[in-house]
Amino acid sequence: MDSTSPVPQRLSGKRAVVIGGSMTGLVTARVLSDHFEEVTLIERDVLGDELTTARKGVPQGRHLHILLARGEQILSQLFPGFVPGLVQEGAELLDFGRDLAWFFYGSWLVRTDDSLPMICVSRPLLEAHVRRRVFATRGVRKLDGHEVSGLRTTPDRQRVTGVTVQRPGDPSSAEALEADLVVEASGRGSRLPTWLEGLGYPRPEETSIEIDLGYATRLYRQPSPSPYPWKALYVQDATPSRRQGVITPVEGGRWIVTLAGILGEHPPRDPQGFLDFAKSLQHDELYRAVSSAEPLSDIEVYRFPAHLRRHYERLPRFPEGLVVAGDASTSFSPTFGQGMSAACLTAMALDQALVAQRQRRGPGNLTGLPRHYHSAAAKATLQPWLLASGEDFRFPEVKGQRPLSFTMMRWFVKHLLRAARTDAVVYKRFMRITHLLSPVEELLDPRVLVRVMRAPDVSSTGEPFASTLKKTG
Ligand SMILES: Cc1cc2nc3c(=O)[nH]c(=O)nc-3n(C[C@H](O)[C@H](O)[C@H](O)COP(=O)(O)OP(=O)(O)OC[C@H]3O[C@@H](n4cnc5c(N)ncnc54)[C@H](O)[C@@H]3O)c2cc1C
Repeated sequence: MDSTSPVPQRLSGKRAVVIGGSMTGLVTARVLSDHFEEVTLIERDVLGDELTTARKGVPQGRHLHILLARGEQILSQLFPGFVPGLVQEGAELLDFGRDLAWFFYGSWLVRTDDSLPMICVSRPLLEAHVRRRVFATRGVRKLDGHEVSGLRTTPDRQRVTGVTVQRPGDPSSAEALEADLVVEASGRGSRLPTWLEGLGYPRPEETSIEIDLGYATRLYRQPSPSPYPWKALYVQDATPSRRQGVITPVEGGRWIVTLAGILGEHPPRDPQGFLDFAKSLQHDELYRAVSSAEPLSDIEVYRFPAHLRRHYERLPRFPEGLVVAGDASTSFSPTFGQGMSAACLTAMALDQALVAQRQRRGPGNLTGLPRHYHSAAAKATLQPWLLASGEDFRFPEVKGQRPLSFTMMRWFVKHLLRAARTDAVVYKRFMRITHLLSPVEELLDPRVLVRVMRAPDVSSTGEPFASTLKKTG
């Protein structure tokens, strides 16, 4: 909906407030604009119109961000012309199967045509683009340079009625902002568990899977013309190595190069250490590319301690008028590129929950919404959670409750990846699942199982894209 669209007739309430103006807050605000007359998005950072560099509240913005195909689909649905608009601003549109050379656990995966769109853009530019679209939406208002310092409730504390906002660190500027619905989207550092406790509610149970992941990222000038057959490169070591590295293009004719290692095996910040880490990967393609490219930035590092899931869906008591979205609820290891797409999935879950709520209770009555929404959001983020944590569980040092079928799953994944080295159909199915377009169960399709089981045990370790491009049909 843009500023010329009519005001929606079927409303859930007068005003919604969103805490946090990063990807979750933005996408959620856009969705809420279909259900509320007014949506106020409160962000601690100042969000200038021209802001296209990483900001304090989103330090991960300096690192490579992959947008999965499901996230792209939802963003294109919410913001028509999303992909062409980004390309106009400098993003490069690649194809995951055709343009990404992927060295996965000891072999290149097959190269396919017509796979899934891969939008290569820096995180700050992506966020800036979405932000412009959201604030051009009728009814959405920004309150930046302000932070939420607490929740306001009815005297019996059964219902949240708004928030207290202030300028950062200045309690004397505090004022009340009333709302029919408050969405907590302030990220992994969310203070909601503490706020709930202060109101006499239990804190949510947490599942934390410690992985001690380290990232190091540097920008380079893209060589032109490129001497490489690929446009993006991903080298993901097989165990026992804990390392990986990725190159993708971003706007401005640059490469963003991110190296990562889990269980304390962190890539260093100094230039020689960065190159040495790249050289240690199980294929030397990434090192060769990076060592001959011109660096354009310092090396930025980031530490990510653990996958974290706060189980709001399990709470026996929770106030009305309040819901939680995005990293504030589930924060995945970034190496799986799922966070922004999961934020899109929970925004769509909220959209559907609001529609169902009106059908159940009529317009303007939000009683019971948190329970229905939190249950739907937990379901929507279960697949990405299981995919990411399941993959990290391959390291015995990663502690946590493995699913009962874990050994069988690992055996299957090993065979699946072996087939994806040569079979474009299997590769594409695998991609659709990791990109959250299809449920994992689709791999149990007998036609896929037969291909997986019959795949030859071969690996390709030479030059990337040495084999011919395969059609997926
Ligand atoms: C190193 C790294 C790499 C990543 N790579 C990828 C990737 O490749 N693909 C992908 O999809 N995801 C990736 N992610 C995850 C992705 O960045 C997040 O999932 C995404 O930003 C959505 O998070 P969010 O909006 O819920 O929270 P955040 O991005 O953490 O934003 C929270 C916002 O709330 C604001 N805020 C906080 N407290 C308050 C308050 N009290 N009042 C007002 N405002 C407040 C902050 O300033 C911030 O703007 C990566 C994450 C990391 C750490």
